[in-house]
Amino acid sequence: MTTATAAPFRIFTLQVTRTRRLSPSLVRVTFTGPDLNAFASNGQDQSLSLFLPRPGQEAPVMPMEYGEGWRQAWIDTPEDVRAVMRSYTLRALRQDAHGTTTEIDIDFVLHGTEPDAATPAGPASRWAADTQPGDRAVLLGPAVADNTAIRFRPPADTDLIVMWADETALPAASAILETLPAGTKARVWLEVPHAGDRVEPTTAADAEITWLVRDEAIGEVPGEASAEAPDEARRATHNEGGSPMALEAIRTAQLPPAQAPYAWIAGESGCVKTLRRHLVREREIDRRRVTFVGYWRRGLSEEQLREQGE
Ligand SMILES: Cc1cc2nc3c(=O)[nH]c(=O)nc-3n(C[C@H](O)[C@H](O)[C@H](O)COP(=O)(O)OP(=O)(O)OC[C@H]3O[C@@H](n4cnc5c(N)ncnc54)[C@H](O)[C@@H]3O)c2cc1C
Repeated sequence: MTTATAAPFRIFTLQVTRTRRLSPSLVRVTFTGPDLNAFASNGQDQSLSLFLPRPGQEAPVMPMEYGEGWRQAWIDTPEDVRAVMRSYTLRALRQDAHGTTTEIDIDFVLHGTEPDAATPAGPASRWAADTQPGDRAVLLGPAVADNTAIRFRPPADTDLIVMWADETALPAASAILETLPAGTKARVWLEVPHAGDRVEPTTAADAEITWLVRDEAIGEVPGEASAEAPDEARRATHNEGGSPMALEAIRTAQLPPAQAPYAWIAGESGCVKTLRRHLVREREIDRRRVTFVGYWRRGLSEEQLREQGE
């Protein structure tokens, strides 16, 4: 006997309906689409594969039937033509009065879009900076609510949640915090480039949130930053080599007493690795109770990361 199992993901065609600048580094893009009602998600850190058109294309070029053979069809599409694929997080989903899903939001970090940027913007950041209502995109998203693209999974006995997120994981951290019930203890560090990026999450949890602002830290990192060497200072505080800011803040923090802590850390992979090491080795949190996800890696595009198998 064969048992039919629902494919966990499916293709959604999308159109931009509006954009809203949330902060200096973040823009919210709202999408609609004809199949959105099939978009099944509990939120949390639900990640998505987003496909964007290349410059000059009206719509992403890609195989539109998801299932067996999709991957090969993707590989067979010429690289310079096929859509740009990037990972993003569902920030919010809205339904109408009949319970039909009508819109989703994705929050994009605008990195490298300023003219003097040391690292020029990648295609997704550039697209988000320029996108207009009517623009088309495609999403590989959840067809079932409990799917492997949700990583935040605290064990049932968890009595403390420890979180760190940089700006790329701020949408995920905010969505997670929104779902935590009252009484949940959480100690949270959110790291962003600028003071204006502190977009306060709403939560019913008993969450102590500390913002780490890299711009404000320039000149405060011992032995690294100085007014004479602003670029060096910026690099030292801009989460390069494991975010000295985050490590310092978390290492020196007194965590609330807990028997069964669970940690979720997401952002630049060098930082994620350093923080995970600290939590497992120094804080002695059981490694099976630390979820860590590299959202991007300094110096490498998402394609290059995929080629390296990360
Ligand atoms: C599971 C998951 C969920 C994610 N969710 C989100 C989300 O909701 N919002 C979001 O903005 N990002 C999110 N990201 C991160 C996003 O996929 C990467 O930042 C991605 O590299 C952006 O693509 P790009 O085309 O702009 O840059 P790429 O072409 O991939 O990279 C170009 C250059 O920019 C650098 N770079 C990439 N991202 C940044 C950055 N944020 N700051 C500075 N330099 C950068 C790269 O190191 C590279 O040198 C998520 C990643 C994962 C894995």
